[in-house]
Amino acid sequence: MNVLVIGRGGREHSMVLKLAGSEQINQLYVAPGNGGMEEVATCLPIEETDIDRLVDFVTENAIDFTVVGPENPLLEGIANRFHEEGLDIFAPTKEAALIEGSKQFSKAFMERHHIPTAAYESFTNAEDAKSYLEQRGVPIVIKADGLAAGKGVIVAETKEEAMRAIDEMLVTGTFAEAGKSIVIEEFLQGREFSLMAFVNGKNVYPMIPARDHKRAFENDEGPNTGGMGAYAPVSDITDDVLAFATEAILQKAADGLVEENRSFTGILYAGLMMTESGPKVIEFNARFGDPETQVVLPLLKNDLLQVMVDVMNGNDPRLDWESKSCFGVVLASKGYPGAYLKNVPVPVVAPDDKSFPVYAGVKNGPNGYLSDGGRVLLIGAKSEMLSDASDAVYRSLSKMSGTDEFFYRKDIGKVAKDT
Ligand code: ATP
Repeated sequence: MNVLVIGRGGREHSMVLKLAGSEQINQLYVAPGNGGMEEVATCLPIEETDIDRLVDFVTENAIDFTVVGPENPLLEGIANRFHEEGLDIFAPTKEAALIEGSKQFSKAFMERHHIPTAAYESFTNAEDAKSYLEQRGVPIVIKADGLAAGKGVIVAETKEEAMRAIDEMLVTGTFAEAGKSIVIEEFLQGREFSLMAFVNGKNVYPMIPARDHKRAFENDEGPNTGGMGAYAPVSDITDDVLAFATEAILQKAADGLVEENRSFTGILYAGLMMTESGPKVIEFNARFGDPETQVVLPLLKNDLLQVMVDVMNGNDPRLDWESKSCFGVVLASKGYPGAYLKNVPVPVVAPDDKSFPVYAGVKNGPNGYLSDGGRVLLIGAKSEMLSDASDAVYRSLSKMSGTDEFFYRKDIGKVAKDT
Protein backbone atom coordinates (compact mmCIF):
# COMPACT_ATOMS: atom_id res chain seq x y z
CA MET A 1 0.00 0.00 0.00
CA ASN A 2 1.05 3.59 -0.55
CA VAL A 3 0.55 5.65 2.59
CA LEU A 4 0.62 9.38 3.31
CA VAL A 5 1.12 10.85 6.80
CA ILE A 6 0.22 14.51 7.28
CA GLY A 7 2.24 16.60 9.75
CA ARG A 8 5.76 17.66 10.66
CA GLY A 9 6.34 17.05 14.37
CA GLY A 10 7.72 14.37 16.64
CA ARG A 11 4.32 12.69 16.74
CA GLU A 12 4.39 12.26 12.97
CA HIS A 13 8.02 11.04 12.99
CA SER A 14 6.95 8.43 15.50
CA MET A 15 3.96 7.42 13.32
CA VAL A 16 6.21 7.21 10.28
CA LEU A 17 8.79 5.09 12.15
CA LYS A 18 6.06 2.67 13.21
CA LEU A 19 4.42 2.55 9.77
CA ALA A 20 7.80 1.97 8.11
CA GLY A 21 7.91 -1.36 9.98
CA SER A 22 4.80 -2.58 8.16
CA GLU A 23 5.45 -5.15 5.43
CA GLN A 24 2.33 -3.93 3.66
CA ILE A 25 3.82 -0.55 2.86
CA ASN A 26 5.13 0.09 -0.58
CA GLN A 27 5.69 3.90 -0.60
CA LEU A 28 5.57 6.01 2.55
CA TYR A 29 5.14 9.78 2.18
CA VAL A 30 4.86 12.59 4.70
CA ALA A 31 3.59 16.13 4.09
CA PRO A 32 5.46 18.26 4.86
CA GLY A 33 7.54 16.16 7.31
CA ASN A 34 10.85 17.35 8.73
CA GLY A 35 14.55 16.86 8.02
CA GLY A 36 14.74 14.01 10.52
CA MET A 37 12.14 11.90 8.71
CA GLU A 38 13.85 11.79 5.33
CA GLU A 39 15.60 8.53 6.10
CA VAL A 40 12.31 6.65 6.48
CA ALA A 41 9.83 8.49 4.27
CA THR A 42 9.62 10.79 1.27
CA CYS A 43 8.89 14.34 2.45
CA LEU A 44 6.59 16.41 0.26
CA PRO A 45 6.63 20.22 0.18
CA ILE A 46 2.88 20.46 0.89
CA GLU A 47 1.50 22.25 3.95
CA GLU A 48 -0.78 20.30 6.31
CA THR A 49 -3.76 22.54 5.57
CA ASP A 50 -3.32 22.75 1.78
CA ILE A 51 -6.16 20.31 1.29
CA ASP A 52 -6.47 20.84 -2.49
CA ARG A 53 -2.85 19.92 -3.10
CA LEU A 54 -3.03 16.98 -0.70
CA VAL A 55 -6.07 15.62 -2.56
CA ASP A 56 -4.26 16.09 -5.90
CA PHE A 57 -1.16 14.29 -4.63
CA VAL A 58 -3.18 11.39 -3.25
CA THR A 59 -5.17 11.03 -6.46
CA GLU A 60 -2.21 11.35 -8.82
CA ASN A 61 0.10 9.04 -6.88
CA ALA A 62 -2.28 6.19 -6.08
CA ILE A 63 -2.11 6.72 -2.32
CA ASP A 64 -4.26 4.04 -0.67
CA PHE A 65 -4.42 5.38 2.87
CA THR A 66 -3.89 8.76 4.55
CA VAL A 67 -3.33 9.41 8.26
CA VAL A 68 -3.49 12.88 9.83
CA GLY A 69 -1.28 13.98 12.74
CA PRO A 70 -2.22 17.55 13.74
CA GLU A 71 -5.57 19.13 14.54
CA ASN A 72 -5.66 22.06 12.08
CA PRO A 73 -6.37 20.07 8.90
CA LEU A 74 -9.03 18.10 10.79
CA LEU A 75 -10.89 21.25 11.78
CA GLU A 76 -10.54 22.57 8.24
CA GLY A 77 -12.40 19.50 7.02
CA ILE A 78 -9.70 17.34 5.43
CA ALA A 79 -11.64 14.14 6.21
CA ASN A 80 -14.89 15.60 4.80
CA ARG A 81 -13.10 16.47 1.56
CA PHE A 82 -11.38 13.07 1.26
CA HIS A 83 -14.75 11.36 1.78
CA GLU A 84 -16.29 13.51 -1.00
CA GLU A 85 -13.47 12.42 -3.31
CA GLY A 86 -13.88 8.76 -2.30
CA LEU A 87 -10.39 8.60 -0.72
CA ASP A 88 -9.51 6.56 2.41
CA ILE A 89 -8.41 8.65 5.37
CA PHE A 90 -8.07 7.69 9.04
CA ALA A 91 -9.28 10.95 10.56
CA PRO A 92 -12.44 12.50 12.01
CA THR A 93 -14.66 14.88 10.07
CA LYS A 94 -14.62 18.54 11.13
CA GLU A 95 -17.94 18.00 12.88
CA ALA A 96 -16.44 15.20 15.00
CA ALA A 97 -13.14 17.05 15.54
CA LEU A 98 -15.05 19.92 17.16
CA ILE A 99 -14.67 17.94 20.38
CA GLU A 100 -11.13 19.37 20.29
CA GLY A 101 -11.72 22.51 18.24
CA SER A 102 -14.11 24.25 20.62
CA LYS A 103 -13.73 24.01 24.38
CA GLN A 104 -17.24 25.39 24.79
CA PHE A 105 -18.67 22.65 22.55
CA SER A 106 -16.57 20.04 24.31
CA LYS A 107 -17.69 21.11 27.81
CA ALA A 108 -21.37 21.28 26.83
CA PHE A 109 -21.03 17.87 25.09
CA MET A 110 -19.59 16.35 28.27
CA GLU A 111 -22.42 17.85 30.29
CA ARG A 112 -25.04 16.43 27.88
CA HIS A 113 -23.52 12.96 28.09
CA HIS A 114 -22.65 12.95 31.80
CA ILE A 115 -18.93 12.59 31.21
CA PRO A 116 -16.97 13.55 34.36
CA THR A 117 -15.21 16.91 33.96
CA ALA A 118 -14.51 20.16 35.85
CA ALA A 119 -17.44 22.52 36.55
CA TYR A 120 -17.40 25.49 34.15
CA GLU A 121 -19.11 28.51 32.62
CA SER A 122 -18.61 30.12 29.18
CA PHE A 123 -18.28 33.87 28.61
CA THR A 124 -17.89 36.38 25.80
CA ASN A 125 -18.14 39.41 28.08
CA ALA A 126 -15.26 40.37 30.40
CA GLU A 127 -17.45 41.91 33.13
CA ASP A 128 -19.58 38.77 33.42
CA ALA A 129 -16.43 36.62 33.45
CA LYS A 130 -14.94 38.74 36.25
CA SER A 131 -18.02 38.57 38.44
CA TYR A 132 -18.05 34.75 38.03
CA LEU A 133 -14.37 34.79 39.04
CA GLU A 134 -15.20 36.84 42.17
CA GLN A 135 -17.80 34.25 43.02
CA ARG A 136 -15.56 31.18 42.47
CA GLY A 137 -12.21 32.43 43.81
CA VAL A 138 -8.77 31.00 42.94
CA PRO A 139 -7.08 28.77 41.86
CA ILE A 140 -9.11 28.73 38.67
CA VAL A 141 -8.51 27.94 35.02
CA ILE A 142 -9.18 30.34 32.12
CA LYS A 143 -9.28 28.85 28.62
CA ALA A 144 -9.59 30.42 25.18
CA ASP A 145 -12.41 28.61 23.34
CA GLY A 146 -10.52 27.79 20.13
CA LEU A 147 -7.18 26.25 19.21
CA ALA A 148 -4.10 27.97 20.64
CA ALA A 149 -1.46 25.19 20.50
CA GLY A 150 -1.60 24.60 24.24
CA LYS A 151 -0.96 28.28 25.02
CA GLY A 152 -4.57 29.41 25.46
CA VAL A 153 -4.89 27.94 28.94
CA ILE A 154 -4.01 29.91 32.06
CA VAL A 155 -4.00 28.11 35.40
CA ALA A 156 -4.36 31.18 37.64
CA GLU A 157 -3.12 31.00 41.22
CA THR A 158 -4.11 34.59 42.02
CA LYS A 159 -7.09 36.77 41.22
CA GLU A 160 -4.82 39.28 39.44
CA GLU A 161 -3.51 36.56 37.12
CA ALA A 162 -7.05 35.43 36.36
CA MET A 163 -8.22 39.04 35.69
CA ARG A 164 -5.26 39.59 33.38
CA ALA A 165 -6.05 36.39 31.44
CA ILE A 166 -9.69 37.45 31.03
CA ASP A 167 -8.63 40.90 29.79
CA GLU A 168 -6.03 39.46 27.41
CA MET A 169 -8.55 37.11 25.85
CA LEU A 170 -11.77 39.12 25.83
CA VAL A 171 -10.55 42.75 25.77
CA THR A 172 -7.06 42.92 24.18
CA GLY A 173 -7.73 39.98 21.83
CA THR A 174 -4.31 38.33 22.30
CA PHE A 175 -5.67 35.00 21.09
CA ALA A 176 -7.59 36.52 18.17
CA GLU A 177 -10.63 34.47 17.09
CA ALA A 178 -9.68 31.57 19.42
CA GLY A 179 -10.08 33.83 22.46
CA LYS A 180 -13.30 35.66 21.56
CA SER A 181 -15.13 33.40 23.92
CA ILE A 182 -13.65 31.73 26.98
CA VAL A 183 -14.34 28.91 29.38
CA ILE A 184 -13.70 29.42 33.10
CA GLU A 185 -13.19 26.12 34.78
CA GLU A 186 -12.87 24.64 38.26
CA PHE A 187 -9.23 23.86 39.14
CA LEU A 188 -8.78 20.09 39.39
CA GLN A 189 -6.24 18.72 41.83
CA GLY A 190 -4.46 15.46 41.08
CA ARG A 191 -2.13 13.68 38.72
CA GLU A 192 -2.66 13.95 34.97
CA PHE A 193 -2.59 11.12 32.49
CA SER A 194 -3.58 10.70 28.86
CA LEU A 195 -5.61 7.87 27.40
CA MET A 196 -5.83 7.54 23.62
CA ALA A 197 -8.00 5.13 21.64
CA PHE A 198 -8.51 4.01 18.08
CA VAL A 199 -12.18 4.82 17.42
CA ASN A 200 -14.67 4.17 14.66
CA GLY A 201 -18.26 5.08 15.48
CA LYS A 202 -19.14 3.18 18.65
CA ASN A 203 -16.07 0.91 18.47
CA VAL A 204 -13.38 2.03 20.93
CA TYR A 205 -9.96 0.35 21.31
CA PRO A 206 -7.92 2.00 24.07
CA MET A 207 -4.14 2.20 24.03
CA ILE A 208 -1.93 2.08 27.13
CA PRO A 209 -2.00 5.25 29.28
CA ALA A 210 0.78 7.84 29.13
CA ARG A 211 1.81 10.83 31.19
CA ASP A 212 2.91 14.08 29.55
CA HIS A 213 4.72 16.94 31.33
CA LYS A 214 3.17 20.18 30.09
CA ARG A 215 5.07 22.87 31.97
CA ALA A 216 8.28 24.28 30.50
CA PHE A 217 10.45 23.93 33.60
CA GLU A 218 11.28 21.49 36.36
CA ASN A 219 8.87 20.98 39.27
CA ASP A 220 6.03 21.85 36.90
CA GLU A 221 6.94 25.51 36.84
CA GLY A 222 6.78 27.97 33.99
CA PRO A 223 4.28 28.27 31.16
CA ASN A 224 2.34 25.43 29.55
CA THR A 225 3.98 24.01 26.43
CA GLY A 226 3.00 21.41 23.85
CA GLY A 227 4.66 18.87 26.18
CA MET A 228 8.26 18.46 27.45
CA GLY A 229 8.45 14.71 28.00
CA ALA A 230 6.34 11.64 28.60
CA TYR A 231 6.31 8.03 29.62
CA ALA A 232 4.03 5.02 29.26
CA PRO A 233 2.41 3.09 30.81
CA VAL A 234 1.55 4.93 34.06
CA SER A 235 1.96 2.69 37.10
CA ASP A 236 -0.05 4.85 39.53
CA ILE A 237 -3.17 4.57 37.36
CA THR A 238 -4.84 1.26 38.21
CA ASP A 239 -6.58 -1.13 35.83
CA ASP A 240 -9.90 -0.26 37.50
CA VAL A 241 -9.38 3.43 36.76
CA LEU A 242 -8.46 2.60 33.16
CA ALA A 243 -11.57 0.43 32.78
CA PHE A 244 -13.69 3.28 34.18
CA ALA A 245 -12.02 5.85 31.92
CA THR A 246 -12.59 3.62 28.90
CA GLU A 247 -16.27 3.02 29.64
CA ALA A 248 -17.40 6.25 31.32
CA ILE A 249 -15.28 8.62 29.26
CA LEU A 250 -14.03 7.32 25.89
CA GLN A 251 -16.95 4.99 25.14
CA LYS A 252 -19.52 7.56 26.26
CA ALA A 253 -17.85 10.20 24.11
CA ALA A 254 -17.80 7.92 21.05
CA ASP A 255 -21.46 6.96 21.59
CA GLY A 256 -22.44 10.60 22.20
CA LEU A 257 -20.76 11.72 18.98
CA VAL A 258 -22.64 9.03 17.03
CA GLU A 259 -25.94 10.10 18.66
CA GLU A 260 -25.27 13.71 17.71
CA ASN A 261 -24.53 12.81 14.09
CA ARG A 262 -20.83 13.53 14.49
CA SER A 263 -19.60 9.92 14.34
CA PHE A 264 -15.86 9.86 15.07
CA THR A 265 -13.22 7.91 13.16
CA GLY A 266 -9.58 8.26 14.14
CA ILE A 267 -7.70 8.75 17.39
CA LEU A 268 -9.69 10.06 20.33
CA TYR A 269 -7.46 11.41 23.10
CA ALA A 270 -8.66 12.10 26.63
CA GLY A 271 -6.46 14.33 28.80
CA LEU A 272 -7.47 13.27 32.32
CA MET A 273 -6.94 14.40 35.89
CA MET A 274 -6.93 11.64 38.51
CA THR A 275 -8.87 13.42 41.25
CA GLU A 276 -10.01 12.13 44.64
CA SER A 277 -13.40 11.43 43.09
CA GLY A 278 -12.04 9.55 40.06
CA PRO A 279 -10.69 10.55 36.65
CA LYS A 280 -12.09 13.75 35.11
CA VAL A 281 -11.62 15.09 31.60
CA ILE A 282 -9.39 18.13 31.15
CA GLU A 283 -9.67 18.03 27.39
CA PHE A 284 -10.44 15.85 24.42
CA ASN A 285 -8.22 15.87 21.38
CA ALA A 286 -9.21 14.46 18.01
CA ARG A 287 -5.76 13.05 17.17
CA PHE A 288 -2.64 11.42 18.59
CA GLY A 289 -1.03 13.39 21.46
CA ASP A 290 2.47 14.82 21.20
CA PRO A 291 4.72 13.66 22.94
CA GLU A 292 2.55 10.75 24.23
CA THR A 293 2.61 9.09 20.80
CA GLN A 294 6.41 8.94 20.87
CA VAL A 295 6.29 6.74 24.00
CA VAL A 296 3.11 4.76 23.26
CA LEU A 297 3.66 3.60 19.66
CA PRO A 298 7.08 2.03 20.35
CA LEU A 299 5.28 -0.38 22.74
CA LEU A 300 2.61 -1.41 20.21
CA LYS A 301 3.37 -4.89 18.89
CA ASN A 302 0.80 -4.77 16.07
CA ASP A 303 1.33 -3.47 12.56
CA LEU A 304 -0.01 0.11 12.91
CA LEU A 305 -1.32 0.24 9.34
CA GLN A 306 -3.26 -3.00 9.83
CA VAL A 307 -4.72 -1.64 13.10
CA MET A 308 -6.04 1.48 11.38
CA VAL A 309 -7.36 -0.48 8.38
CA ASP A 310 -9.10 -2.95 10.72
CA VAL A 311 -10.65 -0.19 12.82
CA MET A 312 -11.91 1.57 9.68
CA ASN A 313 -13.42 -1.66 8.39
CA GLY A 314 -15.19 -2.44 11.67
CA ASN A 315 -12.83 -5.29 12.69
CA ASP A 316 -11.33 -5.68 16.18
CA PRO A 317 -7.61 -4.87 15.75
CA ARG A 318 -6.67 -6.98 18.82
CA LEU A 319 -4.11 -4.57 20.21
CA ASP A 320 -1.06 -6.18 21.77
CA TRP A 321 1.48 -4.27 23.88
CA GLU A 322 5.04 -4.98 24.98
CA SER A 323 5.22 -5.35 28.75
CA LYS A 324 7.93 -2.69 28.93
CA SER A 325 8.03 1.02 29.75
CA CYS A 326 8.89 3.74 27.28
CA PHE A 327 10.28 7.10 28.34
CA GLY A 328 10.98 10.28 26.36
CA VAL A 329 12.41 13.75 27.02
CA VAL A 330 12.04 16.73 24.66
CA LEU A 331 14.97 18.97 23.76
CA ALA A 332 13.53 22.45 23.09
CA SER A 333 14.89 25.76 21.79
CA LYS A 334 15.74 28.20 24.59
CA GLY A 335 12.85 30.64 24.98
CA TYR A 336 10.15 28.11 23.97
CA PRO A 337 7.13 28.38 24.37
CA GLY A 338 7.87 32.10 23.89
CA ALA A 339 10.21 33.54 21.24
CA TYR A 340 13.26 31.47 20.29
CA LEU A 341 15.99 31.40 17.64
CA LYS A 342 15.75 29.19 14.57
CA ASN A 343 18.54 27.88 12.29
CA VAL A 344 20.77 26.93 15.22
CA PRO A 345 22.86 23.76 14.64
CA VAL A 346 21.05 20.91 16.42
CA PRO A 347 23.21 18.83 18.77
CA VAL A 348 24.22 15.52 17.21
CA VAL A 349 22.59 12.49 18.80
CA ALA A 350 25.28 9.86 19.39
CA PRO A 351 24.22 6.39 18.17
CA ASP A 352 23.15 4.37 21.18
CA ASP A 353 21.72 0.87 21.37
CA LYS A 354 19.45 1.82 24.29
CA SER A 355 17.91 5.13 23.18
CA PHE A 356 16.46 6.55 19.97
CA PRO A 357 15.83 10.08 18.62
CA VAL A 358 12.47 11.29 17.31
CA TYR A 359 12.82 14.54 15.37
CA ALA A 360 10.41 17.50 15.42
CA GLY A 361 11.55 21.09 14.68
CA VAL A 362 14.58 20.29 12.51
CA LYS A 363 15.55 20.88 8.89
CA ASN A 364 18.58 19.84 6.89
CA GLY A 365 21.52 22.27 6.84
CA PRO A 366 24.92 22.01 5.12
CA ASN A 367 26.50 20.29 8.13
CA GLY A 368 23.63 18.51 9.81
CA TYR A 369 20.29 19.51 11.23
CA LEU A 370 19.31 23.11 11.97
CA SER A 371 16.59 24.00 14.46
CA ASP A 372 13.26 24.92 12.90
CA GLY A 373 10.82 24.97 15.80
CA GLY A 374 10.31 25.14 19.57
CA ARG A 375 10.43 21.45 20.27
CA VAL A 376 13.44 20.14 18.36
CA LEU A 377 13.68 16.45 19.15
CA LEU A 378 12.84 13.82 21.72
CA ILE A 379 15.17 11.16 23.03
CA GLY A 380 13.28 8.00 23.89
CA ALA A 381 14.16 4.60 25.34
CA LYS A 382 12.26 1.50 26.34
CA SER A 383 13.16 -1.04 28.95
CA GLU A 384 11.65 -3.54 31.38
CA MET A 385 12.01 -0.90 34.10
CA LEU A 386 10.98 2.73 33.68
CA SER A 387 14.05 3.81 35.67
CA ASP A 388 16.39 2.05 33.21
CA ALA A 389 14.67 3.71 30.27
CA SER A 390 14.93 7.07 32.02
CA ASP A 391 18.65 6.52 32.77
CA ALA A 392 19.31 5.67 29.11
CA VAL A 393 17.54 8.83 27.90
CA TYR A 394 19.32 11.17 30.32
CA ARG A 395 22.68 9.50 29.58
CA SER A 396 22.13 10.13 25.90
CA LEU A 397 21.10 13.76 26.47
CA SER A 398 24.09 14.44 28.71
CA LYS A 399 26.45 13.16 26.02
CA MET A 400 25.20 15.75 23.54
CA SER A 401 27.38 18.77 22.92
CA GLY A 402 26.30 22.13 21.54
CA THR A 403 23.18 22.26 23.71
CA ASP A 404 23.70 25.90 24.89
CA GLU A 405 20.82 27.20 22.78
CA PHE A 406 18.53 24.38 23.91
CA PHE A 407 17.05 23.06 27.15
CA TYR A 408 15.34 19.99 28.54
CA ARG A 409 13.63 19.08 31.80
CA LYS A 410 15.68 16.88 34.10
CA ASP A 411 12.72 15.67 36.16
CA ILE A 412 10.53 13.87 33.62
CA GLY A 413 9.05 10.80 35.29
CA LYS A 414 9.93 12.01 38.77
CA VAL A 415 6.32 11.47 39.86
CA ALA A 416 6.56 7.85 38.73
CA LYS A 417 9.80 7.32 40.65
CA ASP A 418 8.23 8.82 43.77
CA THR A 419 5.36 6.31 43.77
P1 ATP B 1 -3.16 20.94 24.21
O1 ATP B 1 -1.92 21.59 23.73
O2 ATP B 1 -2.86 19.62 24.89
O3 ATP B 1 -4.25 20.84 23.22
P2 ATP B 1 -4.92 22.79 25.45
O4 ATP B 1 -4.59 24.12 24.99
O5 ATP B 1 -6.07 22.13 24.83
O6 ATP B 1 -3.67 21.87 25.41
P3 ATP B 1 -5.67 21.92 28.11
O7 ATP B 1 -5.16 20.54 27.88
O8 ATP B 1 -7.12 22.12 28.30
O9 ATP B 1 -5.14 22.92 27.01
O10 ATP B 1 -4.87 22.49 29.35
C1 ATP B 1 -3.45 22.54 29.36
C2 ATP B 1 -2.95 22.12 30.73
O11 ATP B 1 -3.47 23.04 31.73
C3 ATP B 1 -3.42 20.76 31.20
O12 ATP B 1 -2.60 19.74 30.71
C4 ATP B 1 -3.36 20.90 32.71
O13 ATP B 1 -2.05 20.76 33.18
C5 ATP B 1 -3.78 22.34 32.93
N1 ATP B 1 -5.23 22.38 33.17
C6 ATP B 1 -6.20 22.58 32.26
N2 ATP B 1 -7.41 22.53 32.83
C7 ATP B 1 -7.23 22.32 34.15
C8 ATP B 1 -8.10 22.19 35.29
N3 ATP B 1 -9.41 22.32 35.16
N4 ATP B 1 -7.54 21.99 36.50
C9 ATP B 1 -6.19 21.91 36.64
N5 ATP B 1 -5.32 22.03 35.62
C10 ATP B 1 -5.81 22.22 34.38
